[in-house]
Amino acid sequence: MAIGRARRILIAGGGIGGLAAALALQRRGFEVVVFERAQSLRDGGAGLHIWSNGVLALDYLGLAEQVLQVAPVQQVAHFTNARGDILGAWPVGDFIERYGAPTIAVERSVLHGVLRDALEGSPLRTDAQVVSFDQDADGVTVHFADGGSERGDLLIGADGIHGAVRDCLFGPARNRFSGYIAWRGRAPMEHADIPEGTFNAVFGPGTRFTYYDVAPGLVHWMSVANGAPGGRDGAGVRDMLLRRHEGWAGPVADILRATPEDWILRGDVEGRKPEKQWGRDRVTLLGDAAHPITFNIGQGACQALEDALVLAEYLDQPGDPVAALRRYEDERRKRTAPLQRIAWMIGKMGAVENPLLLKAREAFMRKNWNTRAFQAAEKDQVAYGTRWAKKKAPATSREAVTDRAD
Ligand SMILES: Cc1cc2nc3c(=O)[nH]c(=O)nc-3n(C[C@H](O)[C@H](O)[C@H](O)COP(=O)(O)OP(=O)(O)OC[C@H]3O[C@@H](n4cnc5c(N)ncnc54)[C@H](O)[C@@H]3O)c2cc1C
Repeated sequence: MAIGRARRILIAGGGIGGLAAALALQRRGFEVVVFERAQSLRDGGAGLHIWSNGVLALDYLGLAEQVLQVAPVQQVAHFTNARGDILGAWPVGDFIERYGAPTIAVERSVLHGVLRDALEGSPLRTDAQVVSFDQDADGVTVHFADGGSERGDLLIGADGIHGAVRDCLFGPARNRFSGYIAWRGRAPMEHADIPEGTFNAVFGPGTRFTYYDVAPGLVHWMSVANGAPGGRDGAGVRDMLLRRHEGWAGPVADILRATPEDWILRGDVEGRKPEKQWGRDRVTLLGDAAHPITFNIGQGACQALEDALVLAEYLDQPGDPVAALRRYEDERRKRTAPLQRIAWMIGKMGAVENPLLLKAREAFMRKNWNTRAFQAAEKDQVAYGTRWAKKKAPATSREAVTDRAD
């Protein structure tokens, strides 16, 4: 199917991926419309790590400086067991020099807001739940839950791991429950044991606790534990978490005690095996809709940002936009499939409960975490993305990121 340059691009989903795609496409002169099912944009009070590859993607969109004004630059990632014994420490602060951009921690709502505010005009329509689409030789029509519809040249499904666009393309997705559940929260506090720019991951039997500051006086944390999906918490969730982490070294208990109970969110952690096909004709997928990556390597949002830039770049090239979608998918599938697998594997390692396996995990981490694991994380997750972005990012704004981070 040969068609001219796409003009009007429809995007299902106004998460980080959908908004980044909208912005990247606007910057290249496309008209975009983003359909978000929520009535207002969900802020979701959680924290995110955006590694240097994601920060360079933000820089490319001209947003890194703004984000860096509020997001703590990460210097070191500490890994310990529940007794406080050190299993590893990654000097992620060195990435600034190596890749020209730091790794940062940021509140999801802040990043979301920066992307939303950077959009030109009013391309975002809320309360617009995409339920299906049809496509023909001339375009694609999306249909909404309220019976309405919209027509455009192309459709990008950025509607998350349970997205409707993917299911319409290929039938129900085979998402898989990881076996663990994540409780996330924020504690308004300063703590002497949480210096700015330190990420901390504490590994216990079948449970983990991570914490880091996302803004002055605000600590984001996550408690992960094995369990069955579909559960709900009532009052007393904070006490339940305090019991789970009782006796753990460091500020874990202080953080939980300082967290208002209604700031605690619970979510089953799901993933999906890498898929061979992301699109058909005028429709493609982006972000978690295409390649859900469990949180274990902190790359899901970073990869959604990379997707957005690559997609916009291919669509901006002369030629058939449908062929451009397939080229985008080929490049991004190769990039994201290994990350889906490694994140899943690390999640399994984090979930072990058996005492013998726990000993083996600790021995493995002591031996390999600062060497092989760190090198692999840097090469596969960070360096690959920064190589790509360095090639394309305008030098001036990249320099600005480095200066700001110094
Ligand atoms: C506990 C946890 C910790 C994480 N930590 C990190 C981290 O540190 N670093 C990192 O890079 N990543 C992290 N991630 C992953 C990251 O959050 C996701 O990969 C990222 O948010 C994906 O963005 P997205 O826009 O593709 O999807 P989503 O954020 O899921 O957004 C999809 C949007 O589409 C909307 N939508 C859904 N269905 C429809 C529909 N039918 N019609 C219209 N709109 C629809 C939704 O309301 C939503 O706004 C973490 C994830 C979890 C669960």
